[in-house]
Amino acid sequence: MWTVATYVLKKKLTGQKRYPLVLMLEPLFRCNLACAGCGKVQYPPHILKKQLTPEECFAAVEECGAPMVSIPGGEPLLHPQIVEIVNGLIARKKYIYLCTNALELKRRLPEFTPSKYLTFSVHLDGEREHHDFSVCREGGYDIAVEGIKEAVRRGFRVTTNATFFDGTDPNSVRTFFDEVMAMGVEGIVLSPGYSYEMAPDQNRFLGRARVRRLFRAILSNRKPTWKFNMSPLFLEFLMGDRKYECTPWGSPAYNIFGWQRPCYLLQDGYTETFKELLETTKWEEYGVASGNPKCANCMVSCGYEPTAVMDGFGSLSGIWGMIRGTFSSYRDQHALNLLNEPMPHGPSALVQIARPSTALEETNA
Ligand code: SF4
Ligand code: SF4
Repeated sequence: MWTVATYVLKKKLTGQKRYPLVLMLEPLFRCNLACAGCGKVQYPPHILKKQLTPEECFAAVEECGAPMVSIPGGEPLLHPQIVEIVNGLIARKKYIYLCTNALELKRRLPEFTPSKYLTFSVHLDGEREHHDFSVCREGGYDIAVEGIKEAVRRGFRVTTNATFFDGTDPNSVRTFFDEVMAMGVEGIVLSPGYSYEMAPDQNRFLGRARVRRLFRAILSNRKPTWKFNMSPLFLEFLMGDRKYECTPWGSPAYNIFGWQRPCYLLQDGYTETFKELLETTKWEEYGVASGNPKCANCMVSCGYEPTAVMDGFGSLSGIWGMIRGTFSSYRDQHALNLLNEPMPHGPSALVQIARPSTALEETNA
């Protein structure tokens, strides 16, 4: 936290308008799962075979300069040189979040060394039944939990990361929070899903009004045992208490195609250098205010958490908001009532790949 705070302050004092907080480094797209909401594993086989070399990863990290590096994918543990990549980033004093579905985690753990710079961020989308449905793999939850427990036992930093889609039961998510905290993880990361045009199941994505309603039900009346590895202000944004615009340059994405324009989620072209990405992207064409239909329903962490972090460390009121948010239980009777309402949608069935919706933002709460 201190590293990020001083980094943001330095950028502010030097008057830098656009700067990255987290590099989304995707060393490969292939995976050993095929989740229904995934927009990454639909590439053709010749693309799925490709991967970044450790040298390409280090060059991207150095050019970008962000203090944190998230390594999603694909499944990073399928990269044959992932240990070399992680060790190289630790040597560069980068805080790494290695995102994994944990199918290989237990087996690969002996190759890694615990470090304050390394956190395994394990993809877990809810209680057993919900996670297995979400990742389209029976038994996926049990394997991931075994990996988490072994990583905690070996002294690694571990968080879980969950993506929630339409039909999510807030009561089940709250029970899930109890379960993961009991596993000894440091904190929970969560985000609404993004409506990837390549995802096989297009019926599961949430509009903004439903995101706010769902996250208000989930995140109000918190238990003191729950810890979130996220900005409290971003969580307030998800609950509908704050209005933020997207900061896509806050989490730039680098992969086998280059620097992805404008963010981790959209693919409006690539640049060869990070400088070119910053200087030539028409940033005004993205975010909800732009009216771009691809951004209309997006509240995803890679776009909006950088805004919350910059807000939080950028002023005294932001710092106070973060302190208050960290210790508040967000008591809310209306949110308690939401937990007792019948779910408006059941889990949806899988569908074939479809064109993306171009509907503008859902507005009714
Ligand atoms: S584990 Fe991640 S990368 Fe793999 S299919 Fe699921 S969402 Fe996609
Ligand atoms: S609103 Fe979402 S999809 Fe649009 S640029 Fe921001 S993060 Fe990307």
